[in-house]
Amino acid sequence: MRPLRATGGGATMEEGCGTPVAGGRLRGPGAFDGAAERRTAMTVCEVCGNDYARGFDVHIDGAVHSFDCVECAAHLLAPTCENCRCRILGHGLEAAGRFFCCAHCARTRGVRELADSVA
Ligand SMILES: [Zn+2]
Ligand SMILES: [Zn+2]
Repeated sequence: MRPLRATGGGATMEEGCGTPVAGGRLRGPGAFDGAAERRTAMTVCEVCGNDYARGFDVHIDGAVHSFDCVECAAHLLAPTCENCRCRILGHGLEAAGRFFCCAHCARTRGVRELADSVA
């Protein structure tokens, strides 16, 4: 899944706001050894293909996925609400493999045993 995205500025988008990270704190162990610009295990985003020095890995269900930003991670990993089709970025609700963003959506689809605290 590699949708075309305008990511030309992706590599510089966060340059101004971040601390000059020496160790790449978002990276997994061993992915970055701390030496400036010494990029050993390349983190190429699975979604957009951006090769970003401060990318990060996500370990889920025994697999490891690499991303350059949280948005790309959500694009690939976040479940989709069965009712409204939004990406579930919060806790969400799950019933028998069906995902919903909220109890309202679950009820709309006939799943009544789910309830969240803000229904
Ligand atoms: Zn990406
Ligand atoms: Zn929903």
